Amino acid sequence: MSPQIQCRRCGTCCRKGGPALHLADRPLIEGGAILLKHLYTLRKGEPAWENIRGEVAPLEAEIIKIREADGGRACRFFNDAEKGCAIYENRPMECRILKCWDTAEIEAMYRRDRLSRQHLLGTISGLWDLAATHEKECGLDRIGRLMAGDDPDRGALARIMAYDREMRNLVTERSGIDPEILDFLFGRPLARIMPGGRFRRRFGPFGGSVSPDRAPTYVSDH
Ligand code: SF4
Repeated sequence: MSPQIQCRRCGTCCRKGGPALHLADRPLIEGGAILLKHLYTLRKGEPAWENIRGEVAPLEAEIIKIREADGGRACRFFNDAEKGCAIYENRPMECRILKCWDTAEIEAMYRRDRLSRQHLLGTISGLWDLAATHEKECGLDRIGRLMAGDDPDRGALARIMAYDREMRNLVTERSGIDPEILDFLFGRPLARIMPGGRFRRRFGPFGGSVSPDRAPTYVSDH
């Protein structure tokens, strides 16, 4: 069998999740090809499965990703019936440069120049203020210390969880913000990324985020 040298349009890459975004992708959001409701944020300190290194690790900085389709892992823009991309002409950089038969190029760039909420919201004072305040109050680094027992304030975790929940409710009820952008604005709800039980025992405080077969990834391993 001859070695693969071009995309066979099999769709395997897109079924494994959406790409992380980089500065070069900023015009796609600012131009409206990709909307904020199509995105979510993996926050600094949130463990995630990294395909390139093949391990779970806490994020050193936040990542903005394209959401998965409801109930699955495939990128929300993937059309399974046609094995096609709904935004092909406007697909993000990782999708453009990934070659599943030669990953050298994406390995060289996937950690560089990542897009952040501040890049997209920094000039929108109301929205950026909300995101920054939430990050200050609900930082995952502190939550990790609390759950590891390294912080003596035993009531803090419950207060942080309540803050995260109430902030989401208030913002949608009083400001009219589309609830569909909350996972981008504040990251995913703490209640969703910090389940107890076996995931917690296996992976630590944020166990539900990091199971490799369902995890958000740093990059889409097309
Ligand atoms: S944006 Fe398009 S090419 Fe990229 S993962 Fe999604 S469906 Fe695939």
